[in-house]
Amino acid sequence: MPDNTTTVAAPTPEQVRAALEQVQDPEIRRPITELDMVKSVAVAPDGTVDVALYLTVAACPLKDRLTSDVKTHVGQVPGVREVRVELDVMSAEQRQTLQTKLRGGRTEREIPFAKPGSLTRVFAVASGKGGVGKSSVTVNLAAAMAAKGLKVGVVDADIYGHSVPRMLGVTERPTQVQDMIMAPVAHGVRVISIGMFTPGNEPVVWRGPMLHRALQQFLADVYWGDLDVLLMDLPPGTGDVAISVAQLVPSAEILVVTTPQQAASEVAERAGTIALQTRQRIVGVVENMSWLPCPHCGERVEVFGEGGGQTVADALTRATGAQVPLLGQVPIDMRLREGGDNGEPLVLADADAPAAAVLISIADRLSSRARGLVGMSLSVSPAAR
Ligand code: ADP
Repeated sequence: MPDNTTTVAAPTPEQVRAALEQVQDPEIRRPITELDMVKSVAVAPDGTVDVALYLTVAACPLKDRLTSDVKTHVGQVPGVREVRVELDVMSAEQRQTLQTKLRGGRTEREIPFAKPGSLTRVFAVASGKGGVGKSSVTVNLAAAMAAKGLKVGVVDADIYGHSVPRMLGVTERPTQVQDMIMAPVAHGVRVISIGMFTPGNEPVVWRGPMLHRALQQFLADVYWGDLDVLLMDLPPGTGDVAISVAQLVPSAEILVVTTPQQAASEVAERAGTIALQTRQRIVGVVENMSWLPCPHCGERVEVFGEGGGQTVADALTRATGAQVPLLGQVPIDMRLREGGDNGEPLVLADADAPAAAVLISIADRLSSRARGLVGMSLSVSPAAR
């Protein structure tokens, strides 16, 4: 008969360290062992484990989560009776070392997506005017891509709306490690918004150069990790910001969101002119609010008219001389708005809803050429760059 009273021997510090490899920093999302955040491990003969951690900053908003993750993982090691966690804070020097490590050995500020050979696809989401659903489309595409297992980031550069954090349910604010910004993550999407830097949602008059600097900072100073896709929610009306994006990330592709009703010539002309000026590719057009399923019979009611998205795509094809496809038509769905209001994108809340299905198929199409599938060499280690 097995003897249940036999006590398991206390674990070795190596076993505890192996368990700590399973704990990720909630913000940086890499194992705390890799980030030099484990200060010490001590195991008493009775199985009591003391783990001391270095936080990146004293006011780390996620320290409770980190503590409980350590307790959970270490607590599962056989022979552990109790886990005690002590928190310390990194010195300026330690933070500097960490920052250099996170930047892949680079100490200077540069935009990783602008480097030749970058495997991240960058989409700048643009629209002719506000309220067409540009942010809703951005957020749902991002969530759908992340749900597929891609590493996704969103830059909310819509100075008038900055609704992306709310739509993704982000309430945390970014934290700083030296001059690197750690952006919050929601539904697997790392998100930074201009709204996170305007106290109390005050309206801020963003002039071109200021916005350019803010964008540059988001792209260069946020710790993005190794992204497959970065979506940038631009302010409506493709102007200064689109030009800034083109300067900062020349390989960014433009995704145009429109409603069927919008004066096609107007949208197409603006986006087309910018793309020609900046030599950026327009990856396609998303028509949003295309129809409303009749609540009684389910038939399509074309509230805002018909064919606008195709007309825009055709006009852009003519203007740029490159094929611009209509990527999909997203119906009106109250749950899409509700999902936006409560931070649960429809593609996650109800992937079978017709609007979600269209958005998921667009996400699939946009990410089908993502890294790994391109057959590009992945042999360059970040540290060697
Ligand atoms: P924009 O970013 O272009 O200003 P938003 O994404 O903020 O537009 O959308 C404007 C409003 O319309 C939001 O309240 C959003 O929830 C709602 N909305 C967007 N697309 C749809 C849709 N397909 N069905 C229902 N509501 C939508």
